[in-house]
Amino acid sequence: MKMNMETICEQLNSYTTELEDLYWRNWVGLEDNIDISGVYGKYKSLLSLDSVDTARKALTEADSVEEQHRFRALLGQITLSFMEFVSGETQQEILRKEAQTTVRWNGKTIPVRYFRVKIFNEPDRDERRQMMELRSESEDRFINPLRNELVERMKQAVTDMGYANYIELCKETQDRDFNSFAVDMQSFLETTESLYRQNLDYYLKLFSGVGLSEKAHSSDIAAIMRCSRFDADFPPERLMPVLEKTIRGMGFSFDKIHLDLENRPQKKTRPCVSAVKPPDDVRLTLSPVGGFEDYSGFLHETGHALHFTNERRDLDFIFKFWGDRGFTEGVAYLFQNIAMNEDWLREMTDMKKPEDLIRYCAFMAILRFRRLVGSFLYQMELFTCNDLSTMRDRYKFHFERAHQVEFDTGDYLTFDMELYSAGYIRARMFEIQLRESMAHKFGSDWWRQKDAGLYLKTLFVDGRKKRADDIVRQLGYSGLSHSFYQGRYERFLKNKPEKLF
Ligand SMILES: [Zn+2]
Repeated sequence: MKMNMETICEQLNSYTTELEDLYWRNWVGLEDNIDISGVYGKYKSLLSLDSVDTARKALTEADSVEEQHRFRALLGQITLSFMEFVSGETQQEILRKEAQTTVRWNGKTIPVRYFRVKIFNEPDRDERRQMMELRSESEDRFINPLRNELVERMKQAVTDMGYANYIELCKETQDRDFNSFAVDMQSFLETTESLYRQNLDYYLKLFSGVGLSEKAHSSDIAAIMRCSRFDADFPPERLMPVLEKTIRGMGFSFDKIHLDLENRPQKKTRPCVSAVKPPDDVRLTLSPVGGFEDYSGFLHETGHALHFTNERRDLDFIFKFWGDRGFTEGVAYLFQNIAMNEDWLREMTDMKKPEDLIRYCAFMAILRFRRLVGSFLYQMELFTCNDLSTMRDRYKFHFERAHQVEFDTGDYLTFDMELYSAGYIRARMFEIQLRESMAHKFGSDWWRQKDAGLYLKTLFVDGRKKRADDIVRQLGYSGLSHSFYQGRYERFLKNKPEKLF
């Protein structure tokens, strides 16, 4: 049955609420097997080419900027839901295969999923590298045939919806020129390369025992990311009091957020937010294990939760859930990175030398940005290529250029939907520009100011309706720019540390 726009909107609203609730129950360990296909079955008419056509037509006929913006977000969600629906079975098969696949290591049979964690925690450099190569080989043998099928299915769905390729679809639903964005991102790689290499060499020596000249590999980068030397200053029992104190400074509280702190055997340890019916039903879960990542990760999710609970109740449901990722993730980074503020670290922890942590975070910020750029530039090719078999070399090229170390290619058929990587890149740029503007308005300790919280609330009321690009223009910038991001982190990295800390 062909639906009109009004029914599509209604159905999409209840479909999203049902799925959010279902994923939440699985995440916090309340339900082991969730019936996603049952939900798909219930919303067959919504998840159809007819709905995509209706939404595309509505976008073409929209006669105001506001309406175009609304229909674009709606079309983005309908096309995404359609692709998830048609590839759902293959996705499930990949998950099953990943759960079943094992590797033989040191005479033991180890599930490949757990092997990932084991690689991360392996202190010996040679072993770590061999383990990573083994994992890559096993992905190639067992999982990549299915991933190949998934990419082909997605490409077919995109063609069926009437688009030349996935980049063209994202261009229409996000109203962005990804080609010129790609050129801009290439320039970030170039202008940060020398500073990045110099600091990479330092952190490789520190964490992996070898420098860049000794054929560094992605397994050496894993050792840098694993860094646990600051964790003792972030004990699990102090997490909640510290977070409460932090957000109280800006006049926020956890009152309106449904907190899940219970420990259940199947509960995932990563914090997560679920906006089931914002602003009234917003859920935030965590199982504190302690460590810097735990604190900063939870601050990130708190940023999301505060954004959702401060949305206007009568806001168009579309903007409660969808819109610019650059804005919503940027706000979350704003909260997350309070944890690399020197005054905050001195006030909330017993750290003797917070500068070491701040410097490390600054390096990670450059590394993660370069990684996102590598992933984005690679996906621009993945989604437009005619022959997937040529992509392994392109993956190697893009990931090695971004990271400046050798890379295995077992993951070359993984990708993110809606070009998330580009959204996260925009979010990172937005966060720095918003932060600088807030520091200018409220002082460098803006995170202690109630006025800063009031200002953030004025951004939160409209949900995801506002685009990061437009907000920075209102703040007086000419647009989003990576030069502010680069400038901020270079400041922390430009002085060579005196000795290995
Ligand atoms: Zn986030």
